[in-house]
Amino acid sequence: AHEGILRRQALRESAARTYARSLPIVPVRARGLTIEGADGRRYLDCLSGAGTLALGHNHPVVLDAIRKVLDSGAPLHVLDLATPVKDAFTTELFATLPPRFARHARVQFCGPAGTDAVEAALTLVRTATGRSGLLSFTGAYHGMTAGALAASGGAPDVRVTRLPYPYDYRCPFGIGGERGAELAARWTENLLDDPKGGVPAPAAMILEPVQGEGGVIPAPDAWLRRMREITTARSIPLIADEVQTGVGRTGTFWAVEHSGITPDVMVLSKAIGGSLPLAVIVYHEDLDCWQPGAHAGTFRGNQLAMAAGAATLAYVRENRLAERAALLGARMLGQLQGLAANHPCIGDVRGRGLMIGVELVSPEADAPAPPDPVLARAVQQECLRRGLIVELGGRQSAVVRLLPPLTLTDEQAAAVLDRFADALAAAER
Ligand code: PMP
Repeated sequence: AHEGILRRQALRESAARTYARSLPIVPVRARGLTIEGADGRRYLDCLSGAGTLALGHNHPVVLDAIRKVLDSGAPLHVLDLATPVKDAFTTELFATLPPRFARHARVQFCGPAGTDAVEAALTLVRTATGRSGLLSFTGAYHGMTAGALAASGGAPDVRVTRLPYPYDYRCPFGIGGERGAELAARWTENLLDDPKGGVPAPAAMILEPVQGEGGVIPAPDAWLRRMREITTARSIPLIADEVQTGVGRTGTFWAVEHSGITPDVMVLSKAIGGSLPLAVIVYHEDLDCWQPGAHAGTFRGNQLAMAAGAATLAYVRENRLAERAALLGARMLGQLQGLAANHPCIGDVRGRGLMIGVELVSPEADAPAPPDPVLARAVQQECLRRGLIVELGGRQSAVVRLLPPLTLTDEQAAAVLDRFADALAAAER
């Protein structure tokens, strides 16, 4: 079955299929960290549905929540009508939000994907501010849509200004650290205040507290506080895209909690649906000035996702899995840094909580060592041969990303790192 399925899909499916090209497996069963393929092989899954599976695959509390809805006779498709399931999800979501933010927050169901919620956030801030500019950052990833709204006679194009996102490793100015982040903030300030800077009046600034697809780059807390200051001083709403960083992943329930900033809008998806499609924005009530129907969507009422999501949020909260992610993540980061000391092909190890990136470089080349996407691909394949699923990211796809479930045990973490170390040694040769 395994070979046949892979062959037929390769023939029939668009070349746009991404994961299937680098991960030729056919999952048929899964539980927790483990996926079983049609070929009978078992894999430790550190891709976790691109960071979606906070509790791993098929967690019993998630399955129970889904079954309960199925057995209750409740309708599965209700557009965006109020239901007991939605009520329970909303209550649980608000219980997890930073209290200062929750007090004045409204939620809007956008679904099914994170991209939809990003679009909703952009429409919201454009309506609220009457401006059409958008401030975003180098290396950012917010989704894949362009044009659906424009094709429907909707809003004009968003005019984006890209600002410098600070990073230490390979900092283009060779500075990095606190000073580099502060210079990036000043650069942003100067540009916004320059009447000849050519920046279209911004409806919002959108940022990821930790860039995920961009190569697992945590934003310094001080820089995030500066972005909050800069936007507040200029009445620019701040949108935190927590699609990937949310639900305990980075060691706090929401990643904005590390810096203590209160954004105006939070974009949430992935883990909030407990492995099913769900996306929402949560935003300050003052922004809630748009008309019913101003942002629609057929699949905003996924009852199974809301039930699975509520169960996941409650489980992460009650079992303090964010703290667990912080502890385990710090330990794994330390162990990977130890590995880096013996492997010059590891240029950098970074991350926050259980969102970890290992950047691979060609140490033989002239300094500074350039990113090595070929080696990264080889490491990914060697990992797969050893039953470990990892994903690549970063500007040159040279960053191996580890996004294990927050339920990872100490033993599983050790097994993941053992296999990774073996794979690295094999790929290096
Ligand atoms: N924002 C961020 C930060 C993401 O990581 C992603 C997906 N990787 C998205 C938005 C888009 O989400 P989706 O793929 O569900 O549309």
